[in-house]
Amino acid sequence: MSEVVKAEVLGFCGGVRRAVRLIETELEERGPLFTLGAIVHNSHVVDALACKGARVVESLEEVPVGGTVAITAHGAGEGVVAEIERRGLHLVDTTCPIVRRAQETAARLAEEGFGVVLYGEATHPEVRGILSWTRGRGIATQSPETDVPPGPRGVAIISQTTKSPEMFAQFAQALARRLAGRVPEIRVVDTTCPETGRRYQAAEELAKSVDALFVVGSRGSANTRKLAETCRATGVRTHSIESADEIEDSWFGEEERLGVTAGASTPDDVIEAVVRRLEGGKSTDVPRGST
Ligand code: SF4
Repeated sequence: MSEVVKAEVLGFCGGVRRAVRLIETELEERGPLFTLGAIVHNSHVVDALACKGARVVESLEEVPVGGTVAITAHGAGEGVVAEIERRGLHLVDTTCPIVRRAQETAARLAEEGFGVVLYGEATHPEVRGILSWTRGRGIATQSPETDVPPGPRGVAIISQTTKSPEMFAQFAQALARRLAGRVPEIRVVDTTCPETGRRYQAAEELAKSVDALFVVGSRGSANTRKLAETCRATGVRTHSIESADEIEDSWFGEEERLGVTAGASTPDDVIEAVVRRLEGGKSTDVPRGST
């Protein structure tokens, strides 16, 4: 029988837990609402909230007059917030406080005269949202070789919250080296989220004592993908799965020690189902009626 060990830190982060709680409270108190994009990158969570009346929309035009719209934990651009107000919609703002801090940092640095470089995935909703607060004085990139337009004060470097602090530091150092002497000032502000880093560290720690790692989370979740990369980099056999039913018997042996970790948008019940599946052993060993 395999032994299953969970990472010390895994699954829902504080920001996602808070967002789901805010939506659930709103559903109970005011009834159905619309979320601008998926509230978190996890179909289990989105489906569960949809059953309670939270419908995902991609544009504010889909929200009827007088309706309620929720901004996700990833936050939204300045123009989106203004448009919600202009349309007279009721706003439920679940922007994670750590994302909010990154937005405020971006806005402040741009106002102070810096060209803002945001280390992150340009198409990610959080990145697009943070950039909008620079009012056109920022760009997003993951390459320190990118041409960056400086402001009169110089260049400020910040990060998408879910990037690892180490990767951000490497990026910032490489960019700063390239810009040295060419701009008046280079300022680096670490806007990474400590919650994500704690998951990476806990997974690396777990990797030291297990034969295989299972990373649970949506394929659309940037922090889950990065968590899986971190696990693979340890050299331990790593499987990325969205749910327990994706697990194949050939992935683990009977006497192995198996580690489980999960991205910040993965709910507790999905993680527990994975643990139960692995503890149950190979399919033929699972007692009849227990799956
Ligand atoms: S990972 Fe961090 S920044 Fe993102 S929602 Fe969770 S707590 Fe907030």
